[in-house]
Amino acid sequence: MHIFFQDAASARAGAWMTVSLRAIAENYDLVAGLAPEAECAAVVKADAYGLGAEQVAPVLAARGAKTFFVAHLDEGIALRAVLPDVRIFVLHGFMPGCEGSMQARGLIPVLNDPDQVRSWKRFCTKNEQAFPAALQFDTGMSRFGLSSADLQDRAVFEGLNLQLVMSHLACADEPDNPANDVQRQRFVDMAAQFPGIPRSLSASSGIFLGPEYHFELIRPGAALYGIAPSEGNRMLRPVVCLDARIVQIRTVEAGDRVGYGLSWAATKPTRVATLGLGYADGFFRAQEGRGAVWHDRTRLPVIGRVSMDSISVDLTEAPADLEAGDVLSVLGSAQDVDALARSAGTIGYEVLTSLGSRFHRVYVPAA
Ligand SMILES: *Cc1c(COP(=O)(O)O)cnc(C)c1O
Repeated sequence: MHIFFQDAASARAGAWMTVSLRAIAENYDLVAGLAPEAECAAVVKADAYGLGAEQVAPVLAARGAKTFFVAHLDEGIALRAVLPDVRIFVLHGFMPGCEGSMQARGLIPVLNDPDQVRSWKRFCTKNEQAFPAALQFDTGMSRFGLSSADLQDRAVFEGLNLQLVMSHLACADEPDNPANDVQRQRFVDMAAQFPGIPRSLSASSGIFLGPEYHFELIRPGAALYGIAPSEGNRMLRPVVCLDARIVQIRTVEAGDRVGYGLSWAATKPTRVATLGLGYADGFFRAQEGRGAVWHDRTRLPVIGRVSMDSISVDLTEAPADLEAGDVLSVLGSAQDVDALARSAGTIGYEVLTSLGSRFHRVYVPAA
């Protein structure tokens, strides 16, 4: 079970989020083991997918990760304060005029278009030093990166101190999608114009497509945090548990209604529990009529609308002696992050990165 009531703060809490740093470390090993020939970087953008970059990143570094990716410059600045010695790539590069903030912390911009390349080169020339940079290629997703046409003007890229060339797969979670191989081929062709520079194509799902997708560096994020790389893949350790205590229990009569809009009506006398988490905590409104919480192996459906700070659940199938203060599981062995996401019509990524800051957090140490 989890570590409840370690201190006064955990005793006061209405819900606890348990993050297993040990599971994250084990997932790093599992993913790195799939690509033994490649360097395994770690993606810790969005506060390590909502789990706390300050806690998570040092564990990954201790496990052997030497290269990290964040999305924004400010995320890089925060990460640098935690990890002074690792290599940090900033996926979005820099806003105009922010080259100095990047370089002063030893952060490496991913340059996504020719103007960014020119700005970085101007900055390097002014400082008489070729600071490291990475290039991203657009191989079909049309999101970030240089096009094949952009690569025609070779002079633009001369004099760069390139650490990495990279691209990103649009459909890697669908192993049979022909777009994967199309993007891979384009990536090989574009990278060939920068011989000797390490290449990176795959995030979590891409790593599972096989060795021809690994190149010299892999960039897992989600897999480290226990999100399955494709439907049904159960190889990774679950990382997050979320447990909520019952705030109140009532019995409603047939015909009574529950929640905003009075959208749910009892058809028989029903015990209803109110739990203290809601959409402000990342329990989505879309769970109305679909989502559930669990008592051991028993599914307890969410009834009525999800409020900002609370949900109501039907206790019909639960033991009769449940009372206020007892604990129900929102995320855990009965319902993982992907399952909770499915009932809200979304993906595990959105669930994890939405989990709020109001839960009492417990970190299970890596070792
Ligand atoms: C977010 C991101 C990753 C990590 O993706 P996961 O699917 O979470 O592994 C890797 N590369 C890029 C460019 C990203 O934006």
